[in-house]
Amino acid sequence: MSNVQTDKKMTGAVMVVGGGISGMQSALDLAESGFKVYLLDEKPAIGGTMARLDKTFPTNDCAMCIMSPKLVDTGRHKNIEIITGAKVKEVTGDPGNFKVKVAQKARYVDIKKCTGCGDCASACPVELPNEFNGEIDTRKATYKLYAQLPPTPLP
Ligand code: SF4
Repeated sequence: MSNVQTDKKMTGAVMVVGGGISGMQSALDLAESGFKVYLLDEKPAIGGTMARLDKTFPTNDCAMCIMSPKLVDTGRHKNIEIITGAKVKEVTGDPGNFKVKVAQKARYVDIKKCTGCGDCASACPVELPNEFNGEIDTRKATYKLYAQLPPTPLP
């Protein structure tokens, strides 16, 4: 990988903030170019607004059919590290050598061990408004953001 500036110490890592469809595609393009990509999203999972849609304008294509392969590619890419439930707190440094401070919410689930079986959500007694569905229904306190998520990221 080559960098435009050579007079400063440069890094080969980038951060993409927002894991919607454009954030995932940006992360994939950058990762394919050889960059280490940190893909950050404040929600408990990537997918963004498109995950909430049935069809997309103007072609009326199925939103999840477009998005699912990108979810899988993003989740499996060796150059992409997904950081969910997180917000940027501070950015310092110069072009080519930024430092980013990130605040991440506690997940209370070990995602390396979680299989996404959903038993904890079934057993959870706490019901909360479901923001993903515009609060027209409820979700449990432990939940998957949406049904099509790969089996690991329960918050
Ligand atoms: S979905 Fe819940 S019960 Fe199932 S493995 Fe993950 S944390 Fe455990």
